[in-house]
Amino acid sequence: MSITRRGLLGAGAATAALLSAPTIMKAATKKVVVIGGGAAGATLTRYLAKDSKGALDITLVEANKNYTTCFFSNWYLGGYRDMQQITHNYDKVAAMGVNVVNNVATGVDGAKKEVTLADGAKLSYDKLVIAPGIDFHYDQIDGYDAAIAETDIPHAYKAGAQTALLKKQMEAMDDGGVFLMMAPPNPYRCPPGPYERASMVANYLQRNKPKSKVVILDPKDKHSKQALFQEAWETHYPGMVEWLPGAEVGAMKAVRNGEIITEKGSFKGAVLNPIPAQKAGKIAFVAGITNESGWCPIKDATNFESALVPDIHVIGDASINGAMPKSGFSANSQAKAVAMALNAELTGARQFDPRFRNTCWSLVADKDSVKVGANYKAEGNAVVKTDGFISSTGEDTMVREQTYEEAEGWYAGITADMFG
Ligand SMILES: Cc1cc2nc3c(=O)[nH]c(=O)nc-3n(C[C@H](O)[C@H](O)[C@H](O)COP(=O)(O)OP(=O)(O)OC[C@H]3O[C@@H](n4cnc5c(N)ncnc54)[C@H](O)[C@@H]3O)c2cc1C
Repeated sequence: MSITRRGLLGAGAATAALLSAPTIMKAATKKVVVIGGGAAGATLTRYLAKDSKGALDITLVEANKNYTTCFFSNWYLGGYRDMQQITHNYDKVAAMGVNVVNNVATGVDGAKKEVTLADGAKLSYDKLVIAPGIDFHYDQIDGYDAAIAETDIPHAYKAGAQTALLKKQMEAMDDGGVFLMMAPPNPYRCPPGPYERASMVANYLQRNKPKSKVVILDPKDKHSKQALFQEAWETHYPGMVEWLPGAEVGAMKAVRNGEIITEKGSFKGAVLNPIPAQKAGKIAFVAGITNESGWCPIKDATNFESALVPDIHVIGDASINGAMPKSGFSANSQAKAVAMALNAELTGARQFDPRFRNTCWSLVADKDSVKVGANYKAEGNAVVKTDGFISSTGEDTMVREQTYEEAEGWYAGITADMFG
């Protein structure tokens, strides 16, 4: 509206009119802060920005400028993807109106509703979403810590520099060497992940160093998609992959040069890949939303609000939610449900009963993938499984090729859903 001089009231009258007018306060825009821009956090910010149509002030705090997906990082080890293809940035998240802050959240005050960043800056919030992924119990393993994992003996269970280092070590190994992996105890990120990795390493070794072996030490007596992996190893890599169960291995106790020491013995390898036991990302402990399990309980599976601190919601691997496995697909599915719930609570939009879904595909050999998955719904403080499916052993190669193509399509679709 333009106001002409002729339309203006005299100064005195205008002042009187202003003084007598009722005060109209614009409702303050509600603030949502999200810590962690991984599978869960990136998805949540994008869906919240889209659904709230600019009605919310959304900030994403992410430690890194780029995000390398753990999903398909085993494909990278096998030579089926390069690092660039599995690395994404936040440009399209920011383009949706999300304030992307490249920093580390170091403090959370749930009473003041305030997040502190590494540079001392403070961010206030109405709702905080914590999605930091995982951390590792290095304290349980003598001779192993975060620094050694970065420079010498990678677990590569956070993708990026460690995955590249592991690949280099695998490529530098002499033909006839042993690639020695220690799988983690439950619960951990991506239940089939270690076994897909073993398949991809065997795939590379078979083509390049056929006298070599992959040995998997496992603290567990059974593992995800076990019959499918064992069939694949016997069919595609006969005599190359050896899996030792918990009864023969026990828990990992120490890592030394060329050796993994467990409760039941010591094992030698030319390349070591010890994957430690896991817990929620550090900021979840700082925020006081973890319990004695080291993970974050929720009190309502429709919005993943922390059972311990109000107005903090926790999604992705860090949460304990009932039946969903810790996967990128699960994290993405939870993020969409929680974006809907937060938008409903903060802007009055409609909320529907959430449905969750997960599928984990594993590439076991060239164009040969297997899958396991399920659908879920919210029931009280837990996500419960409604139905599930799994590939069969002895499947036709056409079916396996189709499953492989599905996995490729899934990766393209889900990373676009997360990062734009
Ligand atoms: C080898 C391997 C293979 C896998 N394959 C699959 C697969 O095929 N399919 C599948 O669905 N899943 C797969 N996964 C699992 C999947 O990667 C995880 O479940 C998923 O990444 C979890 O998402 P998240 O958002 O909880 O955590 P993350 O994706 O790890 O994201 C957490 C983010 O938070 C940031 N962050 C943490 N703390 C802070 C802080 N204090 N301040 C700022 N930023 C912070 C981190 O930098 C990170 O970007 C695989 C995992 C591995 C290891």
